[in-house]
Amino acid sequence: MSGHAIVIGAGLAGSSAAERLAARGWKIDLIDRAQAPGQGASGNLAGVLRPLPSLDDNRLARLTRAGFQHACRHFEALIAAGQPLRLGRTGVLHLARDESHAAIQERVVEIRQAAADELLFVDRERARQLAGWPVTTGGWWFPGGGWVDPASLCRANLARHAAAITPHYDTEVARIERPADLWRACDTAGRVIAEAPLLILANATTARHFAVAAHLPLRAARGQVSHLGATPGSAPEIVVCRLGYVTPAIDGQRCAGATFSVDDGEAALREADHADNLARLDFILPGYGKGIQARDLAGRVGFRPLSPDRLPMIGAVGDAAAIDPDSPSRPLAGMPRVPGLYLINGFGARGIVWSALAGELLACLITAAPLPLPDDLVGAVDPGRFLLRGRNRRLRAQPAP
Ligand SMILES: Cc1cc2nc3c(=O)[nH]c(=O)nc-3n(C[C@H](O)[C@H](O)[C@H](O)COP(=O)(O)OP(=O)(O)OC[C@H]3O[C@@H](n4cnc5c(N)ncnc54)[C@H](O)[C@@H]3O)c2cc1C
Repeated sequence: MSGHAIVIGAGLAGSSAAERLAARGWKIDLIDRAQAPGQGASGNLAGVLRPLPSLDDNRLARLTRAGFQHACRHFEALIAAGQPLRLGRTGVLHLARDESHAAIQERVVEIRQAAADELLFVDRERARQLAGWPVTTGGWWFPGGGWVDPASLCRANLARHAAAITPHYDTEVARIERPADLWRACDTAGRVIAEAPLLILANATTARHFAVAAHLPLRAARGQVSHLGATPGSAPEIVVCRLGYVTPAIDGQRCAGATFSVDDGEAALREADHADNLARLDFILPGYGKGIQARDLAGRVGFRPLSPDRLPMIGAVGDAAAIDPDSPSRPLAGMPRVPGLYLINGFGARGIVWSALAGELLACLITAAPLPLPDDLVGAVDPGRFLLRGRNRRLRAQPAP
């Protein structure tokens, strides 16, 4: 099955969805208000690529493991296809917060029985050797992890099947409508930008500006990254995390971050946030930031599209208007959906890890192909889950008869 879709948003979400559909022969109209792909949350110099194991192997851990594995295969395929993806598979050292956290990390590695090239627990001395700097605890070592330049991933996704994708940059979608069987995206002057049977909302939190998606509990989490000058070959030459992260030198700069503040719309850099990042850096690599002044730092601000359960939203948009709040609970499978309207969103702080898998899942859902995730995880990321929960909450709030 091939077709034609409009994708709003050319960040990690939109470029991944466009790439996966274009690979299946679909024609895509890709619209972004920015002048190029990867200018929103997906525009940082670099972000971290690694899974996130847990003792109970919960849904977030399973999804992130699957996302990590899928992302690695996708990146290898992009590079093999000659796309200029920028990444460094340096390994990621995820230091424990304290000794009790270190014990949990060690237990997770025992229980998971992961392959040594996937996940190891390293003691403090080995962690120091890996980081090239004294550290206060041991931690997880992900040899296959690293850093990725997210905007380069957006560009690589779009370049791979460029002939199938018509970009409309510098174009804001002000209105979407479906007068007959076609979705229509209109600009601020009311002009039609594109029309297609399918519309995919990949425009982060502004998806809520459209009435059909206004029920989605998407929020923005502001994040500021600090850029530190770095000479090639200086330590650390790997990514090191501990309630924050620091990357190796990339084009003479090292990223240290990141702050996290919900519903904080300040787009300008803040000195206080650089100071927070320096404190994080000191927790990761004690003494590393000595002599660096917050007021001298450059950096970047981005807004992560966040969902309340920290899981992404991937799939058909539920039809909030068609749901009777008094009807008994029913499974997601029976939920009414807005015809031809899909969402790929809510990546929060994990867009680099999740986007390739999310794009593949969305393309499989749209084309009715076998899904790349088990049913419980497909349900866990279904955007319809928020309509069920809202309705269930309302039902619970009613007094017993
Ligand atoms: C500080 C920070 C650090 C992070 N670190 C990591 C990390 O280490 N590892 C990791 O995996 N992830 C990380 N992330 C998360 C990751 O970057 C995000 O999850 C991801 O970029 C979200 O992608 P997106 O495509 O949903 O959103 P965006 O990249 O914001 O894309 C949305 C696009 O929609 C466009 N748009 C919006 N409204 C309209 C409209 N009406 N018309 C046209 N276009 C529109 C915007 O211009 C934008 O380009 C980090 C994010 C931040 C901010």
